[in-house]
Amino acid sequence: MNESLSLTEDLRTLALAEGADLIGFAPVSRFAEAPPENHPTTIFPSTRTAIAIGLAQPRGALKAVEEGCFWQAYNCDSYWYLNEVEAPRILRRLVMRLEEHGYDGVPIHNPFHPHSGRQIREDQPFGPDGMISLRVLGVAAGLGELGVSKMFLSPQFGPRQRIFGVLTNAELEPTPLFKGQVCDNCLACVRNCEAAAMGTDRTVKLRIEDVEYSHAPLDCQACGVVHRGDDPRYSPFWNGSEKEGEKPSYNKFCQDRFRHLSICVGRGCLRSCLDHLEKSGRLEKKFKSPFAERKRWKLESK
Ligand code: SF4
Ligand code: SF4
Repeated sequence: MNESLSLTEDLRTLALAEGADLIGFAPVSRFAEAPPENHPTTIFPSTRTAIAIGLAQPRGALKAVEEGCFWQAYNCDSYWYLNEVEAPRILRRLVMRLEEHGYDGVPIHNPFHPHSGRQIREDQPFGPDGMISLRVLGVAAGLGELGVSKMFLSPQFGPRQRIFGVLTNAELEPTPLFKGQVCDNCLACVRNCEAAAMGTDRTVKLRIEDVEYSHAPLDCQACGVVHRGDDPRYSPFWNGSEKEGEKPSYNKFCQDRFRHLSICVGRGCLRSCLDHLEKSGRLEKKFKSPFAERKRWKLESK
């Protein structure tokens, strides 16, 4: 076995043993058509391979919101714990293993504060810190595709994972691009987004080698209002005790406790999509009970 292949297999075995659910390897050439400001080399100029790992979000945390009963598991486990504990730990193990073999690795966490500094290198389009799209990284590393919703979808978990990365100067064995189809264009994501943030047509396209991936436009500002629970029509945490200009105390609790705040919890783009993909038999991961087991909750308008 050549060094590239054996190191690739070593990293794969390590990542899975440490708790990653998915891992793939993208040669840097797969980012040839990426926008210059989102190219891996803006973060690590000698990148030869971009490694993607996927960590599944616990289905029960999503289900507790789907039932309208419990939001903290999602905000704690699927945001805080995955982003700030589990992913950094696994990324660090991969980086240290690369160092054992004489290579460098830069861990790519979530979230970012992109391009905030002044430009300091003439060969870089912007100042630090660079930013790559983690969902595009997942696609480039062969882990899945993009749905209409712009969500990254894997054949194992659909939209139910987060992607993280390592950029390395090691040349590793590429994972073949995913050429299947998880998304069947059902548009359940669009119909169930309370913010009407998604378009219906796949007009945003990106090409990686000979494969074209696409998604519909996403209005992140519209999403943000519902996602953060700022619209009382879609958040149960507005209870009428808020003074003028105040937000629910629960929002502050989540942000202080978990450093993240999601109230929508992807009603359309995550939960509707997951339910649809599971019920139509399109995902490899199977469960003994359906994701959505009853009619969806809807708040009474006040
Ligand atoms: S809900 Fe349907 S259209 Fe939307 S991303 Fe999922 S599978 Fe695709
Ligand atoms: S998080 Fe909620 S508001 Fe945002 S796009 Fe998804 S379904 Fe729409």
